[in-house]
Amino acid sequence: MKRQLPDSLVDHHAHLFSQESHKLFERAAGRPLPPFSTGELLNVLGQEKVSKAVVLSVGYMFASPDLSRPDLKGLRAENDWLARQVEEHSRRLVGFFSINPLMKESLGELRRWADSIFAGVKIHMANSNVDLRNKSHVEQLASVFEEANTLNLDILIHLRTRNPNFGKEDAEIFIEDVLSRAPTVTVQVAHLAGWSGYDDATDSALATLVPRSDMTNLIFDLSAVVKRSVQADRLELLVERIRAIGIGKILFGTDWPEWTPKKYALDLMELLPLKSEELSTILSNRASWTA
Ligand SMILES: [Zn+2]
Repeated sequence: MKRQLPDSLVDHHAHLFSQESHKLFERAAGRPLPPFSTGELLNVLGQEKVSKAVVLSVGYMFASPDLSRPDLKGLRAENDWLARQVEEHSRRLVGFFSINPLMKESLGELRRWADSIFAGVKIHMANSNVDLRNKSHVEQLASVFEEANTLNLDILIHLRTRNPNFGKEDAEIFIEDVLSRAPTVTVQVAHLAGWSGYDDATDSALATLVPRSDMTNLIFDLSAVVKRSVQADRLELLVERIRAIGIGKILFGTDWPEWTPKKYALDLMELLPLKSEELSTILSNRASWTA
C-alpha cells in the first residue's frame, strides 16, 4: 500500500526570525542566510497545504550567556514582534513567546504575556545554559514553571542542556523538582528531549520520561529527531520509546527552517519503522492550541 500524507498537516515546532534575530542567527552561523520570516513560512505552508504552524520566539537568543551582554530589551522586542505576526495571521500561526529562565526578569515577562495572543512560553535550556545539576538553576526554573502554571501558560521546553553528561539524572531532576510545579498546564518536550538526531544522551533522558508520560499534561514533539545520519537500530529503539510513551502524545513538528513540513513528513515515512496507521495518527495529533 502506498503511504500518503494526510490532507492537512500542522507543524508544532517552527521558528520565525525578525530582522534583528536574523542578524544574530547569521552571526552564530558565521555566514549569510536567507530570511526565515513570516512571508517565507506562510509561502511554505501554502505550497505544502499545511494548515497551521506553531511559531516559537527566538527572543532567548538575545539573553544567551554566549553574548557579551544579555539584552533584555532585545528579548522583549522579539516577543513583541512575534505577537504582531501571530495577530496578523491568527488563522495560520499560533505563537509561543520566550524567556531565559535564569534572568530575574523572566517572571515579569511571563506576567506580561498572561491572557495574551500567545499560547504559552518557550524555554531553551541549552541556549540559556541552564544546568539541571545546578541547584540554583533548578530553583529558578521551578519558579518559572510554577508562575506559568499560575498564569495558565502552556510550556514548550527544549530540555537538553549543555551538560556533557546529560541524560537520566537530568530527566529525574526535571520530573521531581520542575515538572511537579506545573501540574495543570500542558508541557511539550521538544525534539523528544534531545536537540536534533537521537543519540545515547537523548535516549537516556527520554527513557526516564517514559514512565511519567501517562501524566496527562506531558506531550512530546518529533521535530529534528529523524535524520538520515541516525542509524537504523537507533530508529528502532526510538520507535520502541514512542510506543511506550503512547502514539497519541507525539506531535509532528519540523524545527523549520531546518526542514519544511512536507519534506520532514516524507522523511518520517521513509526512515521511521512505524506502522503506517501509527504514523498517520502522529501526523493528525493536535495540541490543544492548534486544534
Ligand atoms: Zn527549535
